[in-house]
Amino acid sequence: MATFKDFRNNIKPNWCPGCGDFSIQAAIQRAAANVGLEPEDLAVISGIGCSGRISGYINAYGLHGIHGRALPIAQGVKLANRELTVIASGGDGDGFAIGMGHTVHAIRRNLDITYIVMDNQIYGLTKGQTSPRSAEGFKTKSTPEGSIETTLSPLEIALSAGATFVAQSFSSDLKQLTALIEQGIAHKGFSFINVFSPCVTFNKVNTYDWFKENIVNLAEFPEYDPTSRIGAMTKIMETGGLLTGLIYQNKERKSYEDMIVGFKEEALSSQSLDISREAFDKL
Ligand code: SF4
Ligand code: MG
Repeated sequence: MATFKDFRNNIKPNWCPGCGDFSIQAAIQRAAANVGLEPEDLAVISGIGCSGRISGYINAYGLHGIHGRALPIAQGVKLANRELTVIASGGDGDGFAIGMGHTVHAIRRNLDITYIVMDNQIYGLTKGQTSPRSAEGFKTKSTPEGSIETTLSPLEIALSAGATFVAQSFSSDLKQLTALIEQGIAHKGFSFINVFSPCVTFNKVNTYDWFKENIVNLAEFPEYDPTSRIGAMTKIMETGGLLTGLIYQNKERKSYEDMIVGFKEEALSSQSLDISREAFDKL
């Protein structure tokens, strides 16, 4: 049986020392081992940005895609081989700016994949511009007078789009993050996990200390019921979107694959398809 070390490869990440993305990588590797996967059972599909490098740092199938397109590729991978566990991963710019159209439709489509957003509230790879997740008043090279746009709330959007699994964590809380990824993989449907992942080089506002002071852990509310959609929306709004833990889960709704008659029986990848020219001509 594989351990988290089996999900390591010999490529040294070139993230800045202290970047939150290191812990997210470690959490994915631990979660994959904890749920009993072997490296050949897992595909990690990423977009563009510092976060996008993650697919190259995990010993599994992987594809470093194009900007904002991690989810279309991940969904294609899952449809082609439904025996794979598929994790899509990208940053807040990747998923909530250029990729937002894909994000909401992937959420409501509810294919059985896990989407982990490495949310640092800035564009890191391009050296620090305002992202959809940056706070109002946030000063960067692209907003020298401070951002005048409203901050996007991914948790509210996910719930509104019909998400069946919504969670949020903090890269420093490896235990919580690993457990949530395990739950996300186990969930039969689209699992949306937003992770605060500080950019130590360009975001001098949303630092590790800032998150430690402002995060509200749902573990502090033992009466909280993650099966209530309206309760989840209320809690998100009450905490300014800064809550962590399992926020919402709907186990009743079937995944996309499970709703198509006959679709589940055999993955395309294991069918002996005749891909000869003659076979195409007969179609
Ligand atoms: Fe991480 Fe920021 Fe460095 Fe990118 S620029 S690797 S997000 S710390
Ligand atoms: Mg970012």
